[in-house]
Amino acid sequence: MSMQNPVFIPGPTNIPEEIRKACDVPTLDHRSPRFAQMFKPALAGVRRVLNMEAGEVIILPATGTGGWEAAITNTLSPGDRILAPRYGMFSHRWIDMCQRHRLDVQVLDVPWGQGAPLAKIEAALRRDGDHSIQAVLVTHNETATGVRSDIAAVRRALDAAAHPALLFVDGVSSIGSMPFDMTGWGVDIAVAGSQKGFMLPAGLAILGVSPKALAAMERAKLPRTFFDFKDMLAAYAAGGYPYTPAVGLISGLARSVEMLEEEGLEAVYARHHRLAEATRQAVAAWNMRPCAVNRDLYSDTVTAVVVPEGCDGTELVRLAASKYGVAFGVGLGELAGKVFRIGHLGMLTDVMLLSGLATAEMCMADLGWKIRLGSGVAAAQEYLRQTQSERLATAA
Ligand SMILES: *Cc1c(COP(=O)(O)O)cnc(C)c1O
Repeated sequence: MSMQNPVFIPGPTNIPEEIRKACDVPTLDHRSPRFAQMFKPALAGVRRVLNMEAGEVIILPATGTGGWEAAITNTLSPGDRILAPRYGMFSHRWIDMCQRHRLDVQVLDVPWGQGAPLAKIEAALRRDGDHSIQAVLVTHNETATGVRSDIAAVRRALDAAAHPALLFVDGVSSIGSMPFDMTGWGVDIAVAGSQKGFMLPAGLAILGVSPKALAAMERAKLPRTFFDFKDMLAAYAAGGYPYTPAVGLISGLARSVEMLEEEGLEAVYARHHRLAEATRQAVAAWNMRPCAVNRDLYSDTVTAVVVPEGCDGTELVRLAASKYGVAFGVGLGELAGKVFRIGHLGMLTDVMLLSGLATAEMCMADLGWKIRLGSGVAAAQEYLRQTQSERLATAA
């Protein structure tokens, strides 16, 4: 008997049974036309999820972190200047990777809980009169803090400064769950991973690469072999891969984009928003608050809940795992102990979410925190009762 509970970490996410089945494929020759038949719909589907017209989708056997590395090594050269705001653990780790690759990173530090600092980005670009900054790196959804930044506004900052830098966006915990507009926002590289919005096991880095980023590749001197876009694109042209692809995951990815489109991307985004809003209703009823400092920044995929003085968020996460077999996310870096994170992305229903909120409350009560059992659940129940699920509405 399976005693598996849903997970409430912000990735990896719960895997729908249909996607697990789609990943389970017999060995096939990846140089045969059967592989191309499986691969092409996955590529085309990702292109639609990214809302990407021109450019190329690249799918690497890696994770989101490998996607970051592929983005920078294919387009930049040692010593290149880049501009990167830092407002959480994931934006920090991307910056750290750039520094290890000997890039000259101008870091814009912002208190955690805030988003991409638009005025500071624009000012830094205006000061860069000779256009030595080659790329701006922004994390769309900072998974450590539950903050969504406004990428359209970052694009406007670049345009207002008339700066030609490339715009790279980490969309690992947003793509497939929140609206993403690669073309409209003028994103040059978007990075996603298989195990979050795409509801797959970990193992694929999924990238959208603009024509401008492909042109930058010709000049880029950072070393790359396994992640070389050029090798990948040459192999694509021949219907294949430069090495052995993760065939099972690619088969699963084709099914994943089908499922997202069967539900309808707009309905998927509305579902995430509604579940996130229900979570925030519960948080307010607990007399707690999200780490994100204002509503405009609230993430629809993860809520970092700031715990009361004297409480330890990590203790709650440990207890939830050991006593109830339920996974929440711990606070990362400077937020360790100060928050716990509720992931609400991927395959998630009202009922699943309510079970997670109820479990969090049991842990709080067990730890002696001052909350009333059922208070957050009731607030979420009210919100969910009163708002229509688009999925059920369209099915009816
Ligand atoms: C999960 C995550 C990553 C790292 O992805 P891996 O697949 O674990 O390498 C990067 N950025 C963000 C915003 C994430 O949420």
